[in-house]
Amino acid sequence: MAQSSVETPTRTALTAEQMKQTMSKLQAELTAKYGQDQAIRIRRGLHQVVEFWREDDGNTAVYEDFVSKNFAGDQASLDIMFDRFQRLLEQLDGHMHEIVREFRNQQDLDIGPVRTYDETFGGYDPSAHVLDDFFQNKLAFTVLLNFPLTTLDERINFGPKWTRRQWAETRLAQRFSKRIPADVNLAIAQAAAESDNYITSYNIWMHHLVDDQGRRLFPPKMRLLSHWNLRDEIKADYVDSKDGLAKQRIIQHVMERIITQSIPQAVVDNPHVDWNPFTNQVTPAGVNDSDSTAQDGDKISATPEPSTRYAMLLKTYHAARLADPYSPTEPTLIARRFEDNRELPEDRVQAMLEQVLTSPLVPQVAKLIESRLGRPLEPFDIWYSGFRPGSKHSEAELDALVAKKYPAAETYQKDIPNLLMKLGFSSERAQNLAARIVVDPARGAGHAMGAEMRTEKAHLRTRVEKSGMNYKGFNVAAHEMGHNVEQTISLNEVDYTLLQGVPNTAFTEGFAFVFQAQDMHLLGLASPDARSEALKTLNDFWGTYEIAGVALVDMAVWHWMYDHPEATPEELREATLQISKDLWNKFYAPVFNQKDVVLLGVYSHMIDSFMYLPDYPIGHLIAFQIEEQMKKAGNIGSEFERMAKMGRVTPDLWMENATGKPVGAEALLSATDEALKQVKSRP
Ligand SMILES: [Zn+2]
Repeated sequence: MAQSSVETPTRTALTAEQMKQTMSKLQAELTAKYGQDQAIRIRRGLHQVVEFWREDDGNTAVYEDFVSKNFAGDQASLDIMFDRFQRLLEQLDGHMHEIVREFRNQQDLDIGPVRTYDETFGGYDPSAHVLDDFFQNKLAFTVLLNFPLTTLDERINFGPKWTRRQWAETRLAQRFSKRIPADVNLAIAQAAAESDNYITSYNIWMHHLVDDQGRRLFPPKMRLLSHWNLRDEIKADYVDSKDGLAKQRIIQHVMERIITQSIPQAVVDNPHVDWNPFTNQVTPAGVNDSDSTAQDGDKISATPEPSTRYAMLLKTYHAARLADPYSPTEPTLIARRFEDNRELPEDRVQAMLEQVLTSPLVPQVAKLIESRLGRPLEPFDIWYSGFRPGSKHSEAELDALVAKKYPAAETYQKDIPNLLMKLGFSSERAQNLAARIVVDPARGAGHAMGAEMRTEKAHLRTRVEKSGMNYKGFNVAAHEMGHNVEQTISLNEVDYTLLQGVPNTAFTEGFAFVFQAQDMHLLGLASPDARSEALKTLNDFWGTYEIAGVALVDMAVWHWMYDHPEATPEELREATLQISKDLWNKFYAPVFNQKDVVLLGVYSHMIDSFMYLPDYPIGHLIAFQIEEQMKKAGNIGSEFERMAKMGRVTPDLWMENATGKPVGAEALLSATDEALKQVKSRP
């Protein structure tokens, strides 16, 4: 080992020089063979292969042999290659997905007990090594030699002029735009799992929170996971006219102590201590509401958590950076998130979010909330949940109606053509789509699982109780049916299967929301009136305003980490607090009349999800655009088909085709403007 590591540098240098000569030689030979008009393709292909070629792929002779045998230098052979890859990759993806679905069935469906081995089957990913295999057997290099790798910039600027075939070729090449070594992927997965573990056990025992009067505001046994359950409790407390406000204030303090890490370590997931989040005093538990008993070793101490939250985040950053050198077109996690996953440039996303945050509608909606609350806004009111319209029908009434209509999953299955016709699909199309959707009884709340090849069907998983389907189940089924119809059209009707699907998950959610919003109509009842629609829009707007700031914190924190690669957890904590305060002061303080609030830094995804948070506000905006377009068009069926056939191009190009405008905030803002008028006209 030692010997070869000394020799390696000279040998590598020699190889690089040899490789250069080989490339020049191949360039000349292939150009002579296929003509000058292939010169650019040849140069590009030679470079794309070299960029990913490793020592163990073979020496220059192997490279030379590979290139001479696999370059498709005329249109006819390129067409054959393209068709073959498209057809076989559809088979690969489709069958892999079929295995995954079968392996997960016991876990996903309501079909009897789940045994330990069922969980192992469910966690198995048969395609985990496909990319490695394709580089090893050089099929990946065949693609890289013949089809163009692109940057997001090129896809945005030239994409609108490309043919559909060029788009399909682009997506084909993109599959092989990264060659991340297995040990790097493993390190990333480990950091993700470690931070995920930290997050999923971060519970607060609510009955053990005491205020200055020693009161316990929350019921025994209530254990809330940070931050999701804490936030949802704040939302739920709006209807508690007695203690709601006091509860919300105490939760805000808990959240702030988590963010600043002044939270005593001893109170995290521990029912054996009481804690006053205002004074930060910790005392032995005055009541016992858990199954476990206090251990002698349990410390009753107010020693703060030692910035573990930020140590976890730093670990994910260090792991993510390991992939940077293997991703030449997107060499940072930030670039991979925006340019690869989202395909929206970061500065555009930033501008869209700021457009919402600085909208003159913010102070207007804030005022409306204040008047509905009858008090000035407090920081936790970023989670205000009171724009919910009342329903004409009681839940029990709806449950009975749905249970009678759908006593079992098969009855829903049989009714799908009828439901689709109610949404404006022609009878023939409705029959055709319904034949490609299988309804299964779900173990959980329900989900939609599309197919990945045309010979497979989409699966709609919905919950059916022994007493029949209930209203909640029907509402979820309508949502999932929206996903299934999108999945079916965008797989079967798209011109190239390499383009199957939608640009990202926000798009399919938009389709699902459109179906879900029609649930009353589908049941033969009156659809929500204009006022209910307006309240829903205001709710969407306020939710987008909240999550836009959270997303900007996530983005700024990742930039800070890339700018300070040697930072300690304490330094990261200080930076995160400053970023949270700065963004609050800029976009929230003007309507909340309070400065230096750190609440925007509370989201747990920021710690374990590798800059996932911007997906939420972008998703709101995209789904809203799709819903608005459907409303404008009037006919859901034909509009749905037209949109879903576009396939997986860039989000902007897709949205231009669907609505005439790129992805943006205007649809939400103008609908909010209208909604404000509607709600104000009839208080
Ligand atoms: Zn969904």
